[in-house]
Amino acid sequence: MRKLPTLDAARELDFADPLSEFRERFHLPQHEGRDAIYFTGNSLGLQPKAAKEALDIEMNDWAKLGVDGHFQGQNPWVSYHDRFVKGLCHLTGAKPTEVVAMNGLTVNLHLLLISFYQPRGQRRKLLCEAKAFPSDRYALCSQIRLHGGNPDEDLIEIAPREGEHLLRTDDVLRAIEEAGDELATVMIGGVNYYTGQLHDMQAITAAAHKVGSTCGFDLAHAIGNVHLDLHNWEVDFACWCSYKYLNSGPGAVSGVFINERHVMDESGRGNSIRRLEGWWGHDEESRFKMSPEFHPMPSAEAWQMSNAPIMNMAVHKVALDLFLEAGMTSLLERSRRLTAYLETVVHLVAERTATNLEILTPVDPTSRGCQLSVVAHGYGRTLFDHLTAQGVVVDWREPAVIRMAPVPLYNTFEDVVRFGQVLEAGLGEVAAKA
Ligand SMILES: *Cc1c(COP(=O)(O)O)cnc(C)c1O
Repeated sequence: MRKLPTLDAARELDFADPLSEFRERFHLPQHEGRDAIYFTGNSLGLQPKAAKEALDIEMNDWAKLGVDGHFQGQNPWVSYHDRFVKGLCHLTGAKPTEVVAMNGLTVNLHLLLISFYQPRGQRRKLLCEAKAFPSDRYALCSQIRLHGGNPDEDLIEIAPREGEHLLRTDDVLRAIEEAGDELATVMIGGVNYYTGQLHDMQAITAAAHKVGSTCGFDLAHAIGNVHLDLHNWEVDFACWCSYKYLNSGPGAVSGVFINERHVMDESGRGNSIRRLEGWWGHDEESRFKMSPEFHPMPSAEAWQMSNAPIMNMAVHKVALDLFLEAGMTSLLERSRRLTAYLETVVHLVAERTATNLEILTPVDPTSRGCQLSVVAHGYGRTLFDHLTAQGVVVDWREPAVIRMAPVPLYNTFEDVVRFGQVLEAGLGEVAAKA
């Protein structure tokens, strides 16, 4: 029978990869006196050790300067959102005028849909994937109702074929083509939260544009996890959260991408753009003249409404800087190796324990990020509970999936082998008890 890789073999792989050092930059949750095996960076990323100090800077400026922190702080609060542009462009392939960090994810999805879902005449339909993340579905349905539509008629949900778990790109493209001039907007999760499937955003965008529809993506599970080139793919809009792969802390600030084609109208005054507006979207040169007329920033910043939540954003900066330092290209290369390693270990454990461990996530590395979604047939929740008790932090998604994400910034090859050992022991024990 084939054996699992040894811990020594895994440690050698870690030792050989300079990126392994980034683990030291994060706090790892502890289990019985040692690092837990934390495979849940797809749900809540770990805390960068530098986060506290970054928060202290802002707390101290607030204490010492009060309101003057807006202009005289070490990082003046009035332009705080500018600090994220470089990191967000690196992660998304946007131009600097196309991104801004603000609000929460579902809030931003609504703000973007206000601008990009504009049903008119026959063109009223919104297309998304079936079993989208519930919050996204609520947002889409409520937007349809806001425009006087009926989600039962106007929401097109693309499901995998009978007996399959993954969407075929061809099926998505065909559905878009079939919806044709009834289609107003396509909005899909770039990486599906349940299966970990990465969609072909470039092809989907091209198909949507061909029938005259706008196209956007929820990148909650994609940003910091897969290669993104939003500007070149001609995506119209996108949004994401920063507390999953981006490690910016619970509920941390979201971000949006708005293609530069859409940030200004022909008049150059932006008055014809349909969007919800607030003072922080006003041209910054004259914002504090407090004019009753809105003069938008000529960038995605025009969609900003409120002044920035500094405490929440201080951590975001630290977290984005770690990505800039490591570099997305190197991280993706490590990610592919780490996830393939986990995939191999899961297959080996299945073989060694004669268990049916089905991986729903695509096998093709270009169609996934780091997450693997595994169904342990015949076990379900009992196995998940066992893993949890042994210090493995993975998550359970109804009806039967265990999601595990070896995150290239802080997970190691050693984590993967330790996980394999716990999984194998668990399958033996749970089976013995059953
Ligand atoms: C995590 C996630 C959310 C969460 O929304 P919030 O507004 O940040 O609470 C929404 N949509 C998707 C696809 C997600 O993965």
